[in-house]
Amino acid sequence: MKKIILTGDRPTGRLHIGHYVGSLKRRVELQNSGIYDKIFIMIADAQALTDNADCPEKVRQNIIEVALDYLSCGLDPEKSVLFIQSQIAELCELSFYYMNLVTVARLQRNPTVKSEIQMRNFEASIPVGFFTYPISQASDITAFKATTVPVGEDQEPMIEQTREIVRKFNAVYGETLVEPEILLPDNEACLRLPGTDGKAKMSKSLNNCIYLSDTPEDVRKKVMGMYTDPDHVRVEDPGKVEGNTVFTYLDAFSKQEHFARYLPDYASLDELKAHYKRGGLGDVKVKKFLNAVLQEELEPIRNRRKEYEKDIAGVYHILQEGCRKAQEAAGETLDEVRKAMKINYFDDMDLINEQIKRFQQ
Ligand code: ATP
Ligand code: MG
Repeated sequence: MKKIILTGDRPTGRLHIGHYVGSLKRRVELQNSGIYDKIFIMIADAQALTDNADCPEKVRQNIIEVALDYLSCGLDPEKSVLFIQSQIAELCELSFYYMNLVTVARLQRNPTVKSEIQMRNFEASIPVGFFTYPISQASDITAFKATTVPVGEDQEPMIEQTREIVRKFNAVYGETLVEPEILLPDNEACLRLPGTDGKAKMSKSLNNCIYLSDTPEDVRKKVMGMYTDPDHVRVEDPGKVEGNTVFTYLDAFSKQEHFARYLPDYASLDELKAHYKRGGLGDVKVKKFLNAVLQEELEPIRNRRKEYEKDIAGVYHILQEGCRKAQEAAGETLDEVRKAMKINYFDDMDLINEQIKRFQQ
């Protein structure tokens, strides 16, 4: 079986370092590994509209921001198909059919949707489109026959929902769709990177992000203002590293060689943590180190972004070409789906001949 990737992001803002460690960085590595037959990266504008129906301009403006973030992180249009969800009408058609295979109770049980409903104060009036977005995600994944979906931990319930739909579809209509596997980051701190405010998840909707396109000064300010251990008041106090966002980010980003470069008094992150726990190590010193580590990671991304910003028409062209390729792939799956569901009336000469005979009798 072919190895195919599908993943993407909602164009509700610029991408942040949570996206980067949770999925984006991995995608670039997978792309460059050469072991995948096809890679589809989707800007999920239709999904973004499910909770932003009244802000179409916001979604429209962020398409190009997300595309620039992709390219600046190293996604290469020669190797990966970068496309926009709404332009592939086949995805809506698939969702419409999959809706018959999922119950309302099953959607209501989805823990990610539950917490997102709470976060958006949708409890009293959930848009149907938002409520059913896990079904639409199943369409996105299966339309491309994706085998692998590299995403953050919050997406686990969506992939499970997709797998259930695939099994149900194949059981009812015959073997047609491919069951995907989730690919989570292997570094635990990257599964769900917390926000700079210490909240459980860095998220565009929570305003607690360090963006890939932030200026060096923005990054420095955000790092210096980060949530640490609220009980670590004086330098000599013993501190906690668990739940301390600065250390979580160091778990996600720091490498052995950073110590020699920026903090030679310590040989490793374990040594730094041990000193913090003992007491005698101030937050400012740790934050300055984190700032240096982040700046080193973000600088090449920022520089590549500047290059692409000089050719915005070229970026739109890349997306348009990606949409064309994505539509071709989704169209092939749709043909198979329609055939399996027996709604391919006009391509089916057997059916027409059978009916002719029936009415002749
Ligand atoms: P929104 O608030 O609009 O939902 P978001 O910040 O949650 O935005 P998405 O576009 O929903 O971003 O997520 C895109 C991808 O990035 C998904 O694979 C998701 O798992 C991953 N991701 C998002 N936030 C984080 C995070 N804080 N840590 C790890 N992965 C993340
Ligand atoms: Mg999200």
